[in-house]
Amino acid sequence: MCTVYIGFGSNIDDRLAYIQNAIHALSETEGITLQKVSSVYQTDPVGYEAQAEFLNGVAAIQTNLPPPSLLRTLKDIETLVGRQHRIRWGPREIDLDILIYGDLCLQTERLVIPHPEMHLRHFVLAPLAEIAPDLVHPVLKASVQTLLACLDDRSALKCFYSRWF
Ligand code: AMP
Repeated sequence: MCTVYIGFGSNIDDRLAYIQNAIHALSETEGITLQKVSSVYQTDPVGYEAQAEFLNGVAAIQTNLPPPSLLRTLKDIETLVGRQHRIRWGPREIDLDILIYGDLCLQTERLVIPHPEMHLRHFVLAPLAEIAPDLVHPVLKASVQTLLACLDDRSALKCFYSRWF
């Protein structure tokens, strides 16, 4: 079993419902135990900025699924919850990313772990710091709270929802 951190986001329609459905599906998946879910934060879009505000957060799971199977499972959950195919960086019903997978460092055509942009994004580090402040980034060898304190991205975040359980 390995502890894995999953980033989630949505910026279309009923954003919270997509996120709640995805977290529920994760918790129901064989081989995955949901451990913690951060608050959900409302955040400004990064990259393609002419789109609605996102809701973002992070979940901690325990899993025995190897990374490619976990990625496939996340893609299946995205489809189940209602993700449509759209432009890259554009609006999305639900997005699930593998942020950190134990102390694994992996770089393949389909999968880069730790997620290559996680340490640059306020909307990732703030919710991650809420549930795992002392977690050490396996490549940068710095804790999540240290990465957050050193971050250039100071885009606004506001807590949107935290009544998970
Ligand atoms: P997205 O548009 O965010 O759903 O991601 C598109 C693709 O990014 C996926 O189909 C993966 O092949 C690739 N990818 C690379 N690294 C990761 C990662 N750490 N977590 C999730 N997807 C990843």
